[in-house]
Amino acid sequence: MLRRRATPVAEITADVRALVADMIDTMYDEVGIGLAAPQIGVPLRVVVIADDETREARALVNPVITDAGGTATAEEGCLSIPGVFAQVARAAWARVAALDLDGAPATVEAHGLLARVLQHELDHLDGVLFIDRLDPVARDRVKRRIKKEGLVENSRPHAFAL
Ligand code: ZN
Repeated sequence: MLRRRATPVAEITADVRALVADMIDTMYDEVGIGLAAPQIGVPLRVVVIADDETREARALVNPVITDAGGTATAEEGCLSIPGVFAQVARAAWARVAALDLDGAPATVEAHGLLARVLQHELDHLDGVLFIDRLDPVARDRVKRRIKKEGLVENSRPHAFAL
């Protein structure tokens, strides 16, 4: 599921709203600040993000990055790859166009952490994981570790898991 390309939402139905409610619960339970539908086994182009200060959740349906720029490198983790953290280079800012849960156009312009969250979650919709964004040496190191130790829940405190 995590490697599939997710399908656009054709219509915002009660099922889509229920999916979003489920995703928000999961995100809060896991102390994540972003979650994509494929991470809970649903192959639809839906993500939820939490404001890093207020923790208020927001749903983005069929999101696309319409503009992005700069470069920033920071540590990332992923709720779907527990215990693995690595420095990932991404755009420093991004603009995302999507629909909200009422089907109205919504735009998010983000810098810093939220820009990273959006890029990470939108990658999930295309079957891309953050470890794919590492340089080959770092990616090999991570893959070898996963093969050797498996995925372990890590008690180490971390900035965020997506
Ligand atoms: Zn993730």
